[in-house]
Amino acid sequence: MPDTAPIVIIGTGLAGYTLAREFRKLNKDAPVLMLTADDGHSYSKPMLSTGFAKAKTADQLSMADPGKMAEQLNIDVRTFATVTALDPDGHRLFIGEEAVAYSKLVLAWGADLIHLNIPGSGAGKVFAVNDLMDYRRIRDALHDKKKVAILGAGLIGCEFANDLLQGGYHVELIAPSDTALPGMLPKAAGDAVVKGLQAQGAVFHLGQVATAVEEAGDGVELTLDNGVKVQADIVLSAVGLRPRTTLAKHAGVQVNRGIVVDREMRTSAADIYALGDCAEVDGHVLLYVLPLMACAKALAKSLAGEPTKVSYGVMPVVVKTPACPVVVAPPPVGAEGEWRVEQSGDCDVRALFVNADGALEGFALTGSHVMEKQKLAQQLDPIHN
Ligand code: FAD
Repeated sequence: MPDTAPIVIIGTGLAGYTLAREFRKLNKDAPVLMLTADDGHSYSKPMLSTGFAKAKTADQLSMADPGKMAEQLNIDVRTFATVTALDPDGHRLFIGEEAVAYSKLVLAWGADLIHLNIPGSGAGKVFAVNDLMDYRRIRDALHDKKKVAILGAGLIGCEFANDLLQGGYHVELIAPSDTALPGMLPKAAGDAVVKGLQAQGAVFHLGQVATAVEEAGDGVELTLDNGVKVQADIVLSAVGLRPRTTLAKHAGVQVNRGIVVDREMRTSAADIYALGDCAEVDGHVLLYVLPLMACAKALAKSLAGEPTKVSYGVMPVVVKTPACPVVVAPPPVGAEGEWRVEQSGDCDVRALFVNADGALEGFALTGSHVMEKQKLAQQLDPIHN
């Protein structure tokens, strides 16, 4: 490794740029090179599922182009530079045939969308949104169009359903679950979200999967496994994300559900760190903004010479479905206890996850109960004490 090798950060999403910004507050001039497979624009990903309601184009959601980021942070940014392999022993990575040396390497390369590969001639009209470039493509595809079929009723499917409804589109959701946000919420709270979105005009096909997607005129026709046909201009697939681990695994870096790191974001390989959607931090895979911000601050200090462990506090997740507001602090994985559910109206649910000692371990609030977030959050233990 040459003495002059930079710190290399792979990924210019919120994790990569936040880390670079935090590091520059502590160290003004150590060379930093950022590599990204995309166009390198700085943007807030959560805004992608509010863009139709606010009538925002992709350009309007971009906060800075890579040139501006490079100038602001005194870093180099290489766009459309897809890293294809890592060589931890040689302190190098590869972009195709080109080798790039690093002194320290940070993996901030996010999560992959899960693709369903539904058979049929309409595959070209199936979209997914996981970055600003995807958002640009789906906005272009929906120009002058009116109807969207969404696959998946998880956080991203429900947020886009709400956003598209507010943007004036007709929306049908198809999901194998019996309610919305099934992995995150107890059923009563998920049902409240279904009712809230239905009240805005959404049509739900729950307990169903799409078995075929065929071109039909300018749009598509989906066949569901109960034989029902759903027509739409385009399909938005929102069936989930999976931390990107393949390149790390091929390089011998330990992976599990994500790239395994300790509380200093150190992987199993010397001088390689990971944070953001790709990382499994001390056993936690949390594909949200607050955890990656906490990691970026701690890792910036470590890279600047002061080894620092991240501390996760209580981090409730706000789901952006104004048709039925939701905030959830999921109980710890494997926690034993029960949901105690109170419902006061179609959309107003207070669900408390309580252990055998009667202590609160998590909560899910919908409708008017979201106001209780602060009060309940104060009763929860932080993830790291
Ligand atoms: P990404 O933003 O995905 O960045 C990954 C980067 O790595 C990109 O620059 C990519 O080009 C690059 N890359 C990937 N592979 C390579 C490679 N091989 N070589 C070079 N570069 C590579 N979280 C919340 O907390 N609140 C919300 O309200 C919320 N809303 C959301 C709404 C939507 C629609 C989505 C999709 C997510 C939302 N999230 C929300 C999640 C949150 O946005 C993500 O957790 C966060 O943005 C992830 O940032 P990241 O930098 O880890 O990954």
